[in-house]
Amino acid sequence: MRRGDVTLMREEHLPEHHPHVHVHACITHSEPFHEKLAKLRAMHRRGKKLTVGVYGLTGCAGCQLTILFAKDKLFRFLTMVDVMALPFIKEQNYTGNFDIIILEGLVANKEDKERAEELRRRCGILVCIGACAVHGCVPAMKNFMNNPEVERAVYAKVDYLNSLAATPVSKHVPVDLELPGCPPDENQIYAVLTDLVLGRPPRVTHNPVCVECVHREVDCLLMQGKPCLGPITTGGCDAICTAAGHECMGCRGPAPDANLTAFINLLERQGQKRENIERRLKTYAALAMDEAEKAQDVQVNF
Ligand code: SF4
Ligand code: SF4
Ligand code: SF4
Repeated sequence: MRRGDVTLMREEHLPEHHPHVHVHACITHSEPFHEKLAKLRAMHRRGKKLTVGVYGLTGCAGCQLTILFAKDKLFRFLTMVDVMALPFIKEQNYTGNFDIIILEGLVANKEDKERAEELRRRCGILVCIGACAVHGCVPAMKNFMNNPEVERAVYAKVDYLNSLAATPVSKHVPVDLELPGCPPDENQIYAVLTDLVLGRPPRVTHNPVCVECVHREVDCLLMQGKPCLGPITTGGCDAICTAAGHECMGCRGPAPDANLTAFINLLERQGQKRENIERRLKTYAALAMDEAEKAQDVQVNF
């Protein structure tokens, strides 16, 4: 995965649209992303509706529900595209290829992996939405535990599970765009989808949530002694939790330049226990956080 490729879409090169909306993106498919966008732009200009499929792997369906519950935005979106498959709510679904597939959920078993591979073959642009698809979310915590024990504690029968290590979709197939969050904000989802349909590059951010707090003039929770993960978490949610008085739990994953050592030291100086800090850090993005900790040589007690 080449996260550095997001520099292809530097914000200063983008038209002013959708203020406060940001996209965490990685571009890994063989055809350059800008060529795919050019095709979508040409189709839009010819007045051709794009074909879209919405699918889910292992997940709670919360991301798909976020798409469905945003009724006004959904109806506007449907004037631009044909949603020809959405098995979560439709019995009859198109079985051919799509211009865009929106995929929720992580790869947790053999069926998920095969499904992800099949859907990758069937679309031009694969958009992964949600912490499960992008980071493995809560299920990835099992990767740091005794897996057979975890499964026996949860399921009466484990023979049929075909389980694999819990992993994001991008570990298995190339992904064009990733929207993290549990779930991602509906404004962000539809801003990104609209950008794609119009063939223009979605904007990205490397800013932490704190930047959005400042824009919203939120009273800092960390300064009040609360273990808010905003300083080390990728923004783009418009600080939705902190603005409502709740600490950021890091659902959008670690910011690329997060200084974990300094942040953990800060929380420890505030009286937080190391074990609790580690658990909080690894609730939504255990794999990415583990990689970041190893890269920064942080001592892990998880
Ligand atoms: S990211 Fe969150 S809302 Fe979306 S499927 Fe996973 S658990 Fe559900
Ligand atoms: S409340 Fe959290 S996210 Fe907001 S500024 Fe403080 S530390 Fe950053
Ligand atoms: S404030 Fe933190 S936990 Fe809340 S939506 Fe944003 S990134 Fe996720």
